[in-house]
Amino acid sequence: MSGILVGIDLGASKVLAVALDGEGKALARRKEATRRADGPARLLDRLAGIARALADDAAAPLAGAGVGFAGLVDRRRGAVLSSIMLPGWTGVPLKEELARRLGVRVEADNDANAALLGELRGRGFPRETILGLTVGTGIGGAVAIEGRLYRGPLGTAGEFGNMTIAHDGPPCWCGNRGCLNALASADAIETRARALPGARPGDAPPTVRSLVEAAARGDARAEEILRHAGALLGAGLANLVNVFNPDRIVLSGGVAQAGGAWLDAVREEVARRALAEPAAYVRIEPSVLGYDAGAIGAASLLLEAEP
Ligand SMILES: [Zn+2]
Repeated sequence: MSGILVGIDLGASKVLAVALDGEGKALARRKEATRRADGPARLLDRLAGIARALADDAAAPLAGAGVGFAGLVDRRRGAVLSSIMLPGWTGVPLKEELARRLGVRVEADNDANAALLGELRGRGFPRETILGLTVGTGIGGAVAIEGRLYRGPLGTAGEFGNMTIAHDGPPCWCGNRGCLNALASADAIETRARALPGARPGDAPPTVRSLVEAAARGDARAEEILRHAGALLGAGLANLVNVFNPDRIVLSGGVAQAGGAWLDAVREEVARRALAEPAAYVRIEPSVLGYDAGAIGAASLLLEAEP
């Protein structure tokens, strides 16, 4: 293949895009705010601009582009079914619209599916049962059964962020209450951190990043907030361990970069709650692709057979 593949991770708060060569090596990357209020047409124009700019950065022609989208996507048509995080996208033929703007092959899928596909590729497609969770503004999920992505008849499988964890818990964007999303996402962590006593007037609103930095400096309160969020995610993962008996659970996204006390709390909670044998068996680990998992995975959609 001549030319570069561009992978775009289109999230609720940021667009992260990478240019990959034929071997999957990242040659260039770009990141910008999603500005979700822009709506689909302007955002599609910006995505096309980002893809062209990356081809310029990499000094190579654009051979194709893949998009991982923060919502439900019909993989075959590359069309958005719905999105809680990105309003106005229901029914938008994402693949077709971006292909028209760029004049190259485009593929689109749910962002967590794309991230897990990238993860499988990065690990050489092992015949393992792997669950992928993207823990960012919201929580996305994806399932690979014995090495193959399982999307379900509509393409909506693996919505782990919308599992009910707390029967009467806080409202979720999906309309339900007490979803994992509403308890353990970046949004939920930041909301809880703002509401806890101890914040000084005039302090900048806490973000996951600022909490991780504070915890690294020894701030016990920040560490407690991260551990609490990790334990809530771990409760959700304990359900998944009992249901799937997975080989691995791979965590990517902004919150997963926290590592440390957060990841310890995730693992401890799974050990405490899940059935002993599958809990002892499963490996819970950060993505091998790190922060770029979603974008690299999105480019990997182009390496799948045409759906
Ligand atoms: Zn929900």
